[in-house]
Order: sequence, then structure tokens, then C-alpha cells
Amino acid sequence: MILVLKPDATEEQFEHILDRIRELGFTPHISRGQHRTIVGAIGDENIPHAEEVFCSLAGVEQVLRVQKPYKLASREFHRADTVVQVGATKIGGGSLGLIAGPCAVENFEFLDEIARRVKQAGANILRGGAFKPRTSPYSFQGLGEEGLRILAEVGKKYQLPVVTEVMDPRQVGTVVRYADMLQIGARNMQNFDLLKEVGQARKPVLLKRGMSATVKDLLMSAEYILSSGSSDVVLCERGVRSFEDSTRNMLDLAAVPNLKGLSHLPVIVDPSHATGRPDLIPAMAWAAVAAGADGVHVEVHCCPEKALSDGPQALLPDQYDSLMAGLRRIAEAVGKTVP
Ligand code: PEP
Ligand code: MN
Repeated sequence: MILVLKPDATEEQFEHILDRIRELGFTPHISRGQHRTIVGAIGDENIPHAEEVFCSLAGVEQVLRVQKPYKLASREFHRADTVVQVGATKIGGGSLGLIAGPCAVENFEFLDEIARRVKQAGANILRGGAFKPRTSPYSFQGLGEEGLRILAEVGKKYQLPVVTEVMDPRQVGTVVRYADMLQIGARNMQNFDLLKEVGQARKPVLLKRGMSATVKDLLMSAEYILSSGSSDVVLCERGVRSFEDSTRNMLDLAAVPNLKGLSHLPVIVDPSHATGRPDLIPAMAWAAVAAGADGVHVEVHCCPEKALSDGPQALLPDQYDSLMAGLRRIAEAVGKTVP
């Protein structure tokens, strides 16, 4: 870290700063300019509290990090792209994760029909919520374990690995028995106890960006999961809150190449929750892959008017077919493979 001292820092403050740098296990490297002094603190920047201690020292004006605050998630420490394997599906390193399914598992018949159609179109992971994070406590909350049972059964029938959201650390033990991948929803991106619990489950994790979270916040949350034992995290851009009210959220497409530059983890995009509009979803899915995404996550329903959650944003199976037809052309142009 680099400590820039105030122009009027006293000798006494300067000596105290050097003492604290050494006490925390760093080696000070002093550079005295005409107007101010700069001290390099050489050592492991991830020592807990070090940055905060340096910021609070009298005589210090600014502290600059040299390393990223996330380590396991960073490309600085792991140059090659990580490929996350979910069942037989690979996400990253040129393989696209094509996640599709209803917002919520409602019954066997609907899910069976949706899975049959998305599999035919080329999806390679089936999604469906059994524990739903709803804005209103009076909205459908999901079928719970019965929903997980249906999801696992249908996934098996169509040879599709399944992903589903886990909302509470107490649910992790149950969800891992049915799911091939655990989803952390946007609302829980900074539920740190949940991230730790999910990291210990040793299953691939789909980590969605919080609606008001920065790219750095997302990577710090990935760091929680990675540092708890998991090495398989897929990051998901799903739109952030903005002043624009003609779409559900604002899709931050720049986050895709931004994240891929900063991290080795695969990055996918969810244009369904990002836009909330079936008319915009295909274009945003194509743009995501063109921007370097390692997959797309799309809500599909065979009968949106009977859906118990997010019906208005669901694509019909025919619409998903044409999304996938376009996606194949884009994928080919950028050297990615679609099943
Ligand atoms: C979901 O994928 O079902 C969901 C609730 O998404 P998000 O957490 O991104 O809002
Ligand atoms: Mn949804």
C-alpha cells in the first residue's frame, strides 16, 4: 500500500506512522519529495484492518492499494479462465452455460413441458425457484422441498443439471440434496453467512449481482464463497437499479468485459430480470454473448398467464427457440460453442 502524507505532517507523526507500518508486518519504503512524503508499505495488503489502520493515522492524507482487495477471485492471482462444471455442462473457457426455465417451480406438468422445450432448443441447465424471494410476503413463496423434488426429477428426465436459489443458511443442507448448482439471488448477494455456508457446500454457485452492488462488491462476495472452500463460482449480471423506469432494471453490459478483466471466474447475463420485458430479452442475450459472456440465464414459461411468479417477463418456448437460433450465430462469430 502507498501512504501519501499530509504536507504539514510532523516528524513525530511520521515516526509513529513508520512504527505502525512495522508493527503490522510491513516494511516501510520512504520517498521524500519537495512538498510531501510518500511511504510505501511493502507486504501482504490483505492483512485484516491494515488499510483502515493506515487511513486513521494522524498525518496520513490518502492510502492507495496496489493489490486488489479480493485475492482468490482476482485475475492477478489466477491468470487462466476458470471453467465451472455443472453436471456435464461446462461454463467458461469457450463453453456457454445456457440456463433456462420458469421463475418458480409450480407443478410437475408445467416444468416438464418447459424443460422438454428448452432442452430441444439447446439449453444445458434447467432453472426453477423452490424458495422465492418475493417483494411481498403475500405473493407465492415457492413450493419449498416439494419444488426441489420436482426440479430434480424433471432435470433427470431431460438430462439437464439443475440450479435453484437458496435464501437461508438453514436451507443449504436440503437444497444440496437436489440441486447441481446453488443460486444466490440479488437480494442475498451480501448475506455473508449464507455465502459462507454455500461456499462450504462444495457445489457450483451462481452468484447474482445485487441490484445496488458495484462490480467490486460482487467480487468481494465471490471472495467470501471462494475463501469458504468452493472453487466454482459463476458471476451473473442481472441489471442494477436506475432512474429508468421503462425496464425493470438497467442491464450493465460493460460489467461483462469489466468483470472478465478483473477476474478469472465465468460471467453470465440474465436479461430476463435485467429488462423484465420479453421484447428486449433476445437482443440483450445476443449482446451479452457478443460482449464476452460465458452464458445467459433466461426465464421461459409454457403458460405465462398461469405463472405464479414473473409471468410477464417469461419467454414462450417458441420465443426461446428464436433467441437460441440467433445466439448460435453470435456464438459462432465469437468462437463459443452452443450445444
Ligand atoms: C431469480 O433468478 O429467480 C431471481 C429472483 O433473480 P434475482 O435474484 O436476480 O432478482
Ligand atoms: Mn424471476
